[in-house]
Amino acid sequence: MSRSESDGHAAFPPALQVVARLLVLAMSLLHPSSGLANALEDATNGNHWAGYGRTYDTAHYSPLADINAANVADLSLAWWFDIPGVVLATSVPLEMDGTLYFTAGYSVIRAVEATTGRLLWTYDPKATLVAGRKLRDAWGIRGIAYWNAKIYAGTHDGRLIAIDAKTGKLIWSVRTTQAGDLRIITGPPLAFDGKVMIGHGGAELSPMRGYVTAYDAETGRQLWRFFTVPGDPGKGFENKAMEAASKTWHGQWWKYGGGGTVWNAMTYDPDLKRIYIGTSNGSPWNQKIRSPGGGDNLFLAAIVALDAETGAYVWHYQETPGDTWDYDAVTDIELANVSIDGRSHRVLMQASKNGFFYVIDRDSGKLISAAKFVKVTWAKEVDLKTSRPVEAANARYESGEVTVWPGSLGAHGPQPMAFNPARALVYIPAVDLPGTYNDQGVDLKGWKPDREFLLNIGVNAGVDHPGNTTADVGVSALVAWSPIEQRAVWRVGLPGVWNGGIVTTAGNLVFQGRCDGTFAAYAADTGKELWSFDAQVGIIGAPITYKVGNRQYLTVMAGFGGGATTFGPMWDARTQRRRLLTFALGGDAKLPAAPRQRRPVPVYDPNVRLNAKAGGSGGTAFATHCAGCHGPDAAAGGAAPDLRSSAVILSEAAFREIVQGGALVQRGMPRFEEMTDDELEGIRDYLRSKANELVGSRAAQRQ
Ligand code: CA
Repeated sequence: MSRSESDGHAAFPPALQVVARLLVLAMSLLHPSSGLANALEDATNGNHWAGYGRTYDTAHYSPLADINAANVADLSLAWWFDIPGVVLATSVPLEMDGTLYFTAGYSVIRAVEATTGRLLWTYDPKATLVAGRKLRDAWGIRGIAYWNAKIYAGTHDGRLIAIDAKTGKLIWSVRTTQAGDLRIITGPPLAFDGKVMIGHGGAELSPMRGYVTAYDAETGRQLWRFFTVPGDPGKGFENKAMEAASKTWHGQWWKYGGGGTVWNAMTYDPDLKRIYIGTSNGSPWNQKIRSPGGGDNLFLAAIVALDAETGAYVWHYQETPGDTWDYDAVTDIELANVSIDGRSHRVLMQASKNGFFYVIDRDSGKLISAAKFVKVTWAKEVDLKTSRPVEAANARYESGEVTVWPGSLGAHGPQPMAFNPARALVYIPAVDLPGTYNDQGVDLKGWKPDREFLLNIGVNAGVDHPGNTTADVGVSALVAWSPIEQRAVWRVGLPGVWNGGIVTTAGNLVFQGRCDGTFAAYAADTGKELWSFDAQVGIIGAPITYKVGNRQYLTVMAGFGGGATTFGPMWDARTQRRRLLTFALGGDAKLPAAPRQRRPVPVYDPNVRLNAKAGGSGGTAFATHCAGCHGPDAAAGGAAPDLRSSAVILSEAAFREIVQGGALVQRGMPRFEEMTDDELEGIRDYLRSKANELVGSRAAQRQ
């Protein structure tokens, strides 16, 4: 910066400077959020990234083109910020007025200077200390929201909090879940029009009835709540929509809660003043238990349009009627105006977990088109006359086990896709994996949900993997999809299955982090890889881009953990480098060299004996209680430590102190106070035998 530029303002006499400041202050008081409304509504203003998907259309698109396909080869690291702790670092940051805001771990929020990464403040809601049994479902939150100089975040334990964006001080906090329930928060809040809205998750774990709630953004006062499935008819229905929905259920569904949680997708439509929400699977997954006799079970696995002012039902489109496979309709919902068959349509788009790409008219809620963006076998097609899927024989495992594509992992996770209006293309982080389902041995009539906060789904569901869990088997892809023609324009095979969210820009670029630790840029029109960076750890979060002064920056959170991370390259939870990485043209920062500690070093106990009383049941107990974070077959994928390499499993007392006594609750390790000493020893035996097995297989490899 030249001296004349930096001294520009000093040319005013001090008194005039004060007047100028007062004028700016007066203008900002008159229009407290006009700059923000512009940032959220005006797709042509690329300076800020003020919402999860940048603007209200949630397109994860930036009109900035300073960094473009011609010069992206010169893109380099400008700075990095080390995120402390063994925490989940997979979220999408926000940028407003030169400050970056982001969450990692249990809703810990930080603000850093966007040009330097200098830490401005940290707010820790201490979620692990109040979460209790909710810690047993250990997802992090995927993003935060900004409105009128406040940051909004859900906390794992079920609070919605508002924080002063300047100071990091708490402004208000409300509990959006019910006392004693098992609802948890994983999705980003949605801020719009002076309101902030939040959903919740947990339909896998206990009887649960899903809902979303809107609050006054300034005060936290509750404005409205919309339940996604009908409750007990004996208690009356909240509204006509619930009464109508109840006709699509059978039996005593309310005893199982019903499900339909909104744990991810929420989009605001400023043109129609509507909210679109995406709802989850049923509670439990198996429809034969939840609603014996079938039925569509509204509004499960559906997109529902609500009036933004009142929360009243407007329309719905159900993607998976009577879901029985865990086909949540919760992947991101993106808005666009497109021309189809010579007519202009206001549409919403979703690359659903069930493998179909949906284009829906958002005025009417009518399906325009649906097509398979990956291999799909549970349904032959979506019949455009009825708007319903045409299911395959035995897809509902009514006559024995079935293998269908996709499995319960889904064809698309919560990692956002991106829509580039200049190319009229959507870029999808797609997954191609089948799954098996059967309900052999499940007591369909007498099935009782428990409240132990364990996987509670009423079906034996497996995820098939064409290879072992440590191999790089390439069953995922970055797919460039034309929503107008409903076909793939290009497709790049990716390692593993769980890769990062996407950003696309007017610079003809698509950026995505991968599970193998590569952060890459592709030409948006051809899919040619133009640039890559070694992030030293797998990436799940989606990048953002923004401008401070005259410089365009690109930021992504690097860190690996959460769902499905055991399918592919693995990153050790204790040694992986979780970082916020920021890039610019001509950036001159360089990450310190990092030894790649990707393989756990197993502990070895020559004296391991299977506990006679536990009778070798430790493996089952581990699968039910521990595998969600510590990995199937005790092979961890980055969310939590690999216990085969933990000295804790060599000590009965230490193991008990942590698992039963809750010694590490503060760090996010849940307490299982109800476990008996026999159960604990069973799990410890299982883990020691798995560690010894790993020692043996490594020795065999060396020979
Ligand atoms: Ca689900």
